Parts: sequence; structure tokens; C-alpha cells
Amino acid sequence: MVWDIVSILAMNQNKLFQLTRLRLALWYALVMALILTLCGFGIYRAISHAHWVTLDREIESVAGTLHDSIELKLKQPNQLEPVIKDILPNICVIGNKCISEPSNSQRHTLSAINQGDYYIRFFNNSGRLFAIAGSYPQGLSPSFNQELWQTLKDSQSKFYHQISLRLHTQDHRDWGYIQVGRSLADFSSYLDAVKLTLALGSPMIIGLVGVASWCLAGLAMQPIYKSYRQIQQFTADAAHELRTPLAATQATVESALMMSELDEVEVREILQTIKRQNLRLTTLVADLLLLARLDCQPTPMRRDICCLDDIINDLIEEFAALAIATGVTLKYTIQASTPINILGDQDQLYRLFSNLIINAIQYTLSGGQVTVSLSCSDHYAIVLIQDTGIGIPQQELPHIFNRFYRVNSDRSRSSGGSGLGLAIASAIVRAHYGSIDVKSKSGKGSTFTIKLSCQQFGMSTGIKSDSCSGKYS
Ligand code: ADP
Repeated sequence: MVWDIVSILAMNQNKLFQLTRLRLALWYALVMALILTLCGFGIYRAISHAHWVTLDREIESVAGTLHDSIELKLKQPNQLEPVIKDILPNICVIGNKCISEPSNSQRHTLSAINQGDYYIRFFNNSGRLFAIAGSYPQGLSPSFNQELWQTLKDSQSKFYHQISLRLHTQDHRDWGYIQVGRSLADFSSYLDAVKLTLALGSPMIIGLVGVASWCLAGLAMQPIYKSYRQIQQFTADAAHELRTPLAATQATVESALMMSELDEVEVREILQTIKRQNLRLTTLVADLLLLARLDCQPTPMRRDICCLDDIINDLIEEFAALAIATGVTLKYTIQASTPINILGDQDQLYRLFSNLIINAIQYTLSGGQVTVSLSCSDHYAIVLIQDTGIGIPQQELPHIFNRFYRVNSDRSRSSGGSGLGLAIASAIVRAHYGSIDVKSKSGKGSTFTIKLSCQQFGMSTGIKSDSCSGKYS
């Protein structure tokens, strides 16, 4: 029944967790996609800007060199001296018949003009196109604009970038303007390649981010899922344990009500049963509350000086009758000359050792032996609870400190155990900064070792202690 509830809950949780994981992965991928798109846009803008700057510098340098060399030769406004042919061999004055020069002419002053699709235009003072040179594109508007930098488009929708500089004659009269421009074809194709790389690369990267985020979301959810499963398992186990005495009480009361008459003995028997079930319920609730308290506040609430020798002696006396009744020999040995004291919660320490001693007696067959020994080593008090009982199979050892875990449910339940005893013991040990360890062999017996630190003693109380020997000053 418990397993049915747990598996139904687990299936619903699985769906919930898968959905949450998917949502987490999608959100992560979406945020990453936005960041990557912004980064891609930024990279594109930076590359484009860097190229514009380089292009402007290149045109500026070519135009500046041409301007300076041509200006030195100009004598009359609106008139190009023949010597300019030495600088620009394929110059063509508008209205004249021009013969194009071979591109590898040895007379080129600026090789960049041929290498980089450059064109040169001369405008006179009234803004009329006067002459052209270089790789002059067809269909470029001949109208003049004296803006320093311009981007133009020809009749074939090709783009050009140009600079306009003023020209003067040798005697400083205005001659007109020189415009040096360059095709943007290689620049545009480079930027197109960058755009294409970013456009194709981004979805691939986003896809990879999506896969990575799905895996990462799974990893991140794993501990939450595990602890959620534990909580659900615990709730189901607790409900099951609480239901058993409640159902027994209910059945007792119902059968009593069905009887027409009850004599005093029968009434007493019924009340005894109800009392027993009620006690079981109270103990279970008290155990659950204690565990909850230990979970919320892992350090012991009270911090008294507790004499372990006294606690164990009291418990040995208390369980002597139980040991005799079950035919088990209960022994106690102490290997210290002085009492061993630790700082902690006396009630919790009683509970810790009583749980372990009761278990040792209960899981030892008649004729067996339970030995409790107390010793002191370095700064630790060591308590060993050994029995020659039924032992615990190796594969069960990692689970026995889990809540509601029983090795053999039938046997454990018949002895009144709920599977919380060792969970409480280990929580108390943790709250006292100690450790609990178990060694066991099926059919041979078990040994529980508890190590409790005496170091905290001097630190938190101000009471000085040399070791765990119980000598204080
Ligand atoms: P319970 O209250 O049912 O005894 P515990 O948490 O104390 O639960 O113990 C968990 C399980 O560990 C028990 O069901 C029992 O099978 C096993 N166990 C604990 N102590 C011993 C022991 N000394 N010898 C053999 N088995 C033990």
C-alpha cells in the first residue's frame, strides 16, 4: 500500500520535475540566445566600424597624396596642366576623346588607385564635372556635392565611398574640387560573409546551449529531486506507521460497540488495548518530533556536563530485567580510571545509548551476550555496544540509519520497533559532533561504536579540561 502511494507520487513528481527541468533549460537557452544575439550584433558592429575606419584612412591617404601632388602643378582655374597625365595616365577631360591606358602602366604614381577600384573626379568651381580618372564606374551621378564624405550608388546599385577636397592653383586661387572614391564591393562582400557566419553560427550555438542547459538543469535538479523523494518516502512511511495503531484502536472500539453487553473484565481488556495503541502512537509522535527538532537544530539545546559512566550504569540497571527476561547476559566494562564527562544534552544521551542497548538485547537470541564498554582515547569518549545476536547482512548496513528502515520488518515490528531508533541515535550523535559506526556479520553479532568529542567541552563552557579524563580545573 505504502509503495503504491509512493510510486503514484513518484510518477507525478517525475512529470513535475521533467517539466521544471524543461522550463529551466528553455529559459536558460532563451536568455543565452538573447545574450548571444546581442554579442553577435555587437561583434558585427565592431567589425563593420573597424573596416569603415580603415577604409576612410585608406581613401584619405590616397586622396591626400593625389591632392598635394596635383595642386603643385595647377596654374589656371578650370584648366588641367598636361603634366597631370604623368600622375594620372588615364585622365579624361569631359568632352574630349579619351584612350584608356593599360592598367599595368609604369607611369602610375599611386599603385593603390589601380589595385583598389579607385576613381578620381575633378569638378570646376561652378560644380561641373571636368575630368575623370581611374576605374570610373558607369552610371555614377555627375552632380556635385561638396560634403567631405559621401556614399554613392551607381545605376547597377553598387556602392562607392568618396572624399571631396578643394584644389587651389599655385598662386592660391580656387581651382575647383577633386573627389577620390572607391568601390565598396569587397567591403560589402566581407561584411556579408561576417553576417552569414553569425546568422548560421548563432542557431548552432543556441542549439548547443539548449542541449547543455538541459543537461545542467538535470544535474542541478538531482539533489532537489533526491531530497523531495526522501521527504515523500518519509511522509508515506510516517502515515503508514501512524495508521497502524489508529486502525487497531478503531477496530477495538468498533468490535466493542457491536457487543450488546460488556462485563467489567472485557471493558478493562478493551481499555488496555486502546491504552497500548495510544502509547505506541504517542511514542511514534514523540520520536518524529524529536527527529524534527534535531533536524531543525542540529546542536543539542542543553549543554550540560554529562558523566557517560553514570548514564551507562543507569541504563544497565534499567535493562537488566529485560536482559534476564530474554535470557541475554548484559555486561558493562569501563576502561578509564576517572569518570568520563562530555558536554551535551543528558536526555538525548540517555536516548542514544538506550536505543542501542535495547536493540542489542532484542536482536540477540537467548543465551547470547551484550557488552557495553566505555573508554577514552585522545580527546574522544568511545562507547562500544557489542552483541552476539543475529547480526545485520552487509547489504543492509548502509541503510539501517535511514528513517523507518527495518532489516526484517516482521521481527522488528513484533518487538515494537518502528525503524526510527537508529535514525534518532545517529541524529543525536551528529548533534553532539560525534560519529557512529557499525560492524556486523549475519549470525555472528553486531558492534556499534560511538565516538563523542570532549574537545568542545573547554571551548564552550570555559571549564578547562586536559583531555577526556574528566579532570577539570
Ligand atoms: P527498530 O526500532 O525497528 O529496531 P532501528 O532503527 O532501531 O529500528 O533499527 C533498524 C533495523 O536495524 C532494525 O529493524 C534491525 O533489523 C536492525 N538492527 C538494529 N540494531 C541491531 C542489532 N544490534 N542487531 C541486529 N540488527 C539490528
